[in-house]
Amino acid sequence: MTTNPSLSIITLMTLLMCLTPTLIKSEEGIDVLLPISLNLTVLTDPFSISAASQDFGNITSENPGAVLCPSSPAEVARLLRFANGDFSYDGESTTSSSPGFKVAARGQGHSLRGQASAPGGIVVNMTCLAKTAKPAAVVVSADGTYADVAAGAMWVEVLEAALKRGVSPVSFTDYLYLSVGGTLSNAGIGGNVFRHGPQISNVHELDVITGKGDMVTCSPKLHPELFYGVLGGLGQFGIITRARIALDHAPTRVKWLRILYSDFSAFTKDQERLISMGNDLRVDFLEGQLMMSNGIVDTSFFPLSDQTRVTSLVNDHRIIYVLEIAKYYDSTTLPIIDQVIDRLTRNLGFPSGFMFVQDVPYFDFLNRVRNEEDKLRSIGLWEVPHPWLNMFVPRSRILDFHEGVIKGLLLNQTSTSGVTLFYPTNRNKWNNLMSAMIPNEDVFYVIGFLQSAGGSNNWEDLQNLNDRIINFCDNSGINIKEYLMHYTRKEDWIKHFGPKWNDFLRRKMMFDPEKLLSPGQDIFN
Ligand code: FAD
Repeated sequence: MTTNPSLSIITLMTLLMCLTPTLIKSEEGIDVLLPISLNLTVLTDPFSISAASQDFGNITSENPGAVLCPSSPAEVARLLRFANGDFSYDGESTTSSSPGFKVAARGQGHSLRGQASAPGGIVVNMTCLAKTAKPAAVVVSADGTYADVAAGAMWVEVLEAALKRGVSPVSFTDYLYLSVGGTLSNAGIGGNVFRHGPQISNVHELDVITGKGDMVTCSPKLHPELFYGVLGGLGQFGIITRARIALDHAPTRVKWLRILYSDFSAFTKDQERLISMGNDLRVDFLEGQLMMSNGIVDTSFFPLSDQTRVTSLVNDHRIIYVLEIAKYYDSTTLPIIDQVIDRLTRNLGFPSGFMFVQDVPYFDFLNRVRNEEDKLRSIGLWEVPHPWLNMFVPRSRILDFHEGVIKGLLLNQTSTSGVTLFYPTNRNKWNNLMSAMIPNEDVFYVIGFLQSAGGSNNWEDLQNLNDRIINFCDNSGINIKEYLMHYTRKEDWIKHFGPKWNDFLRRKMMFDPEKLLSPGQDIFN
């Protein structure tokens, strides 16, 4: 994708321009005037344009022609109807051919490769809708079983509002400063998924404005095709404006454990056993990560007195597998929580003396990545390129993956950067009607190579490693599914969706036939 050449003119326009017709570009590079009668709050000042052109990945930059800061879902519907060539918004009820400019919803812009961008088109800033939502961005139901949430709100806001009522969502991403609409467009995964499913499995109902500009309320019973399509649908079928999120009783505290393994088989055996447990004893959260001697060994979780021997363990073995589990509790379970932890960990196969426990408030546990963000920001390593690679690996090939990718490629680098996530989850918590793609096995592993450029690492070298990882999987016949992927070739998308591709295409034609939405995903461009 190339940058729009007329942007220098457009970016000279200021906020005041919402009072005059706004000029944007169609896909073919033809100027399109957004008429005043559309009555939209459209921003074209350099700051707004620049902010909407970047994302967390810090690798791409795609200037939109303008940013819409809507104060109601009706404004978004009006914009999309106009983009479809429907001029009935001003009472004239005429239809013409589509002006051809693209539209992308943008939540927090924590995408990695411009997925929330709309080159030359219009980016819809979903936080504006959350700020103006009436009566509030997050409304917890009277019985506390669900919350109606403006899709531009962040998960941390949902959590804060729910906790005031003693309830909480059940499935969280590791990082809470992501928008609800953004994670629902992907899947929303983390350490609760094995037990409760991804965030897309914990939604009762959605308000969606389709690519055609229709405002539709959908659920498993009402317009199911749109409901399931949008969940994990990469923003292709509609813009979510409201989501009804499932809530449950909130615990108050968490026993948070990190347990170190030098033996990969023992590590995965214990991980898989823990996620298969079905009784009350089971853990509430399970993840895992790698500590490698060619990376920065972060020992901050461990007591000061143990940090040296943890570092030595990593250096001696070159790679250590960290099982991360959590058990939630409150005043009713307080008297037995230590016994529960004892029973949970008694038969695990880690070397003795390498289990570490913290006891923290529930909110702090869920918000734990914020501390990492603060640390990285303070040393200038947050706003750097992030060529992250996330994937799901079928359990049946996890040994081959470990040998070929972790030991063969990662451990042989002179240095590695960032965190490597490594944990199994259960397929039965995902609904195959949704657009999100996962491997076709009951248990699969979530693997995240969360590398950051900066210092001696440049992002192209890190990307090169990602390419080699993907090639290794392809050549070894390991059928991974990438998550948060960005493909530029249609055949890669067709391969990604596999048997669901025809449904994906059919839904696109149903809900966004002019192919206007989320062009930054590069699926239908
Ligand atoms: P954006 O980047 O703004 O948008 C992402 C896509 O969704 C775009 O295509 C956009 O057009 C579309 N979109 C946004 N809002 C809407 C809407 N309302 N309706 C329709 N389409 C919409 N993911 C996990 O699953 N688990 C994790 O633990 C996790 N941790 C992360 C930690 C960090 C530090 C970061 C940066 C990302 C992490 N992610 C994680 C990835 C994250 O879930 C995705 O990047 C997600 O898209 C971010 O939400 P956002 O609001 O920033 O989305």
